[in-house]
Amino acid sequence: MPKPHIPLEDIRAQVEACRKCPLADGRTQTVFGVGNPSARVLIVGEAPGKNEDLQGEPFVGKAGQYLNELLAIAGLAREDVFIANVLKCRPPGNRDPRPEEIELCTPYLREQTRTIDPEFIVTLGNFSTKFILKTEIGITRLHGTLQRAGKFKVFPIFHPAAAIYDGSKREALENDFATLGELLRASDAEKAAAPAEQVDSSATPAQPASVAAEPPADETSAASQPAVEQPHLL
Ligand code: URA
Repeated sequence: MPKPHIPLEDIRAQVEACRKCPLADGRTQTVFGVGNPSARVLIVGEAPGKNEDLQGEPFVGKAGQYLNELLAIAGLAREDVFIANVLKCRPPGNRDPRPEEIELCTPYLREQTRTIDPEFIVTLGNFSTKFILKTEIGITRLHGTLQRAGKFKVFPIFHPAAAIYDGSKREALENDFATLGELLRASDAEKAAAPAEQVDSSATPAQPASVAAEPPADETSAASQPAVEQPHLL
């Protein structure tokens, strides 16, 4: 029997009460996530920054404005998707999340994912990509390739903040969001063409190996080896 899904508001209450790690001492408030509770696309960032900690909402700063523009390239509005982070509290000085923080905090993301039950998980940057795909392969190699974690299609993309600091990432980010739009439209077309039982992804056995969208460009391409060691979120 599959585990029943926990209502999002119950997960939110658990997050708000959480004091499992010292990040709780430094937060103004937790940042649970925002958006469509039954979104087709779950966007997973890294951790709240200063503005997010103050406002209690993910991606409200400069990177958030840019994320909204990128979503539009994929034909998505912010309200269509659900946006969450690996960590629900701001690390001091916006330092990188620590392994023990990720371990303690990600059960919330796992439950959010099960409840929202998206078709696509878009991982932004290294921390969410490595967690969701359970891989050590970096975002530079994985971005723009379609992967799988259990029943979820996973599409890693650079973190929007990376393009703010390094303009050369802009083109890759914008191309990858355009590809995301194409993947969504292709999936729509497939669903429209196939009888319902053939496109019910919950009826499809979990595929632990990656399903790269394109053939490997060279020996070191991420597409040439599976990123996923085992389904991580099921
Ligand atoms: N960067 C993230 O990864 N998440 C946010 O919510 C804001 C900035």
